[in-house]
Amino acid sequence: DATPKATTVLTHCPYCAMQCGMALVNDGERWSVASRDFPTNRGGLCRKGWTAAALLDAPDRLRTPLMRDHKGGKLRPASWDEALDHVVTRLEEISERSGPDAIGIFGGGGLTNEKAYMLGKFARIGLGTANIDYNGRFCMASAAAAGVKAFGLDRGMPFPMEDISRTQAILTIGGNPAETLPVMMQYFDAQREAGGTLIVVDPRRSETAKRASLHLQLTPGTDAALANGLLHVAIQHGLIDRDFIETRTSGFEAARRTASRYWPDRVERITGVPARQIEQAAHMIGEAETAMLLTGRGPEQQSQGVNNVLSFVNFMLALGKAGKPHCGYAALTGQGNGQGGREHGQKADQLPGYRRIDNPQHRDEVAAVWGVDPADLPKAGLSAVELLNALGQPGGVEALLVMGSNIVVAAPDSSRLLDRLGKLDLLVVADMFLSETAALADVVLPVAQWAEEEGTMTNLEGRILLRRPVRPPPDGVRTDNEVLKGLADRLGKGRYFTSDARETFEELGRASSGGGADYAGVTYERIDAEDGVFWPCPSPGHPGTPRLFLDRFATEDGKARFHAVEHRLSAESPDAGFPYLLTTGRVLQHYNSGAQTRRVDELRAASPEPFVEIHSETARTLGVGDGDLVALTTRRGRIVFKARLTPDIRFDTLFVPFHWGAGSVNALTNAVFDPVSKIPEFKICAVRIEKV
Ligand code: SF4
Repeated sequence: DATPKATTVLTHCPYCAMQCGMALVNDGERWSVASRDFPTNRGGLCRKGWTAAALLDAPDRLRTPLMRDHKGGKLRPASWDEALDHVVTRLEEISERSGPDAIGIFGGGGLTNEKAYMLGKFARIGLGTANIDYNGRFCMASAAAAGVKAFGLDRGMPFPMEDISRTQAILTIGGNPAETLPVMMQYFDAQREAGGTLIVVDPRRSETAKRASLHLQLTPGTDAALANGLLHVAIQHGLIDRDFIETRTSGFEAARRTASRYWPDRVERITGVPARQIEQAAHMIGEAETAMLLTGRGPEQQSQGVNNVLSFVNFMLALGKAGKPHCGYAALTGQGNGQGGREHGQKADQLPGYRRIDNPQHRDEVAAVWGVDPADLPKAGLSAVELLNALGQPGGVEALLVMGSNIVVAAPDSSRLLDRLGKLDLLVVADMFLSETAALADVVLPVAQWAEEEGTMTNLEGRILLRRPVRPPPDGVRTDNEVLKGLADRLGKGRYFTSDARETFEELGRASSGGGADYAGVTYERIDAEDGVFWPCPSPGHPGTPRLFLDRFATEDGKARFHAVEHRLSAESPDAGFPYLLTTGRVLQHYNSGAQTRRVDELRAASPEPFVEIHSETARTLGVGDGDLVALTTRRGRIVFKARLTPDIRFDTLFVPFHWGAGSVNALTNAVFDPVSKIPEFKICAVRIEKV
């Protein structure tokens, strides 16, 4: 029989934080995606997942390093030796002239755990720079900081996602999983079929909001007022759980005093949400036996992001809806390794296993695993926006290595970023495609994609998963960790580094041992045999921890913390010059900066270009018709979009998805950030709209 045999490899989707299980099947010629019965997605895949195999044959894949001979020169092919030698020569010059902190590293929340870990290690002991941060700072930072403040530990979803189908009431704030995590909706559907209720808080009547029992269409930037209003009603109407507050929390009194000033009529004036809906929502959650709070980027990507999350957590704690089966708070993590990518050291203030770089004991523990003197580890560095603001500035960052991120599309106020990137002495970008950021680099390093190497990802519920390769990288392409090893060898630090994924994971296990995110008991074999392992898993015999906080929270005294939160205005409010609110987000067909999904024909055809969503009535008053070109102007720039008219958005709000390079809406967004999480205010700025 000459028929070629099909090969099947069980792995996971390259995109979002669901990390759905999938099979890649080769019929002898091409790879295609097939369904796989994995416990999280149960065979389901969204359109992005089904079409993911197209990435393997993308025609514009980079297959050789590229370099410019001088600033402004053309990118030309180079050998790996030439490219890496050049990078190291320039990095050494810059470090000698201006110190190691003049070198910055920008990582990504889509990198595997092994890469995120190794990138953090490379920054600290390969280059000796404090300045490493990553695009998770644009994504999960507020939820993570709020989780630590309220519960003592940040695991975005401290329970398995199947628990969503078992809770009676769900309160979703500024999240649209029907488009951003579509496969998760099977759990929402099951919850509804079992008689559960769903409340969605969103300025848009999103695809998720359309399925809700109640939709609260708040004014962007008024989240904390709404949360205080819900808490106010819960207290006034006797819905709170005094026993839970007494035994499992602290700080209620201050939160109660603050909430007492947010009576429903006042909150209606601030938020635009009718008082009766606020009361209805408080009762729906308060009277349910079990309830969950889920936040998306809506409340988080604000200059008040951490406080916004904490204010809703207050409401849930007062109702006693946390630390119990089928109750609690979870963040709807976005990036593929948004969870694991924030645990192992690619953040400016962090070492592996959620250790803090400013904690002497944590420094000692990690230095011992790395075989270095703890005194040689740098201190905390600049967070993402601060790092990008320092590019090319006097006394700032002169060279930047970008890995797993397309900052030109994804960062706020991107016109100013472009200007700063142009002032760098050296920009090095590792990517599989010539992304918008790679196209500006002095050196481009072509790296392997998801199905060409082994590595672990941690999905949004804290389950560590194994990605398997279907083939080695094409000729001329290396893995990210081979790149780091090649650089480290040339820096004379090669003995500290390995490019082998399994060796790296074993080392990560040792480095995380005893930390908050403890992977010490996890092996590739266990992940394989057990369909993933939930952290913390501190030893080989430990079963892993699907549900956290059931007996005690992870604070020192085991109690969850209330935080008194006042509503504060966003950095920009509408005025005569900029009378509307601009908010940004995602569509179903694309993943983040679109660097991958825009290269998949089917996804590009389904969603080819950015648009601005505008309420039909607002459009009528402006004389704008569906499909007309309109210019959006903020204090940072002006971009023309096609208008898409809808009755599903507030009259005062405009929505633009951010997945496209040409005319990225991030040229308009505000880089002001939350003082704690340092997340930028993507979700709100003042804008003017004109027909062109
Ligand atoms: Fe992939 Fe996310 Fe879609 Fe699942 S939901 S198939 S992980 S993009």
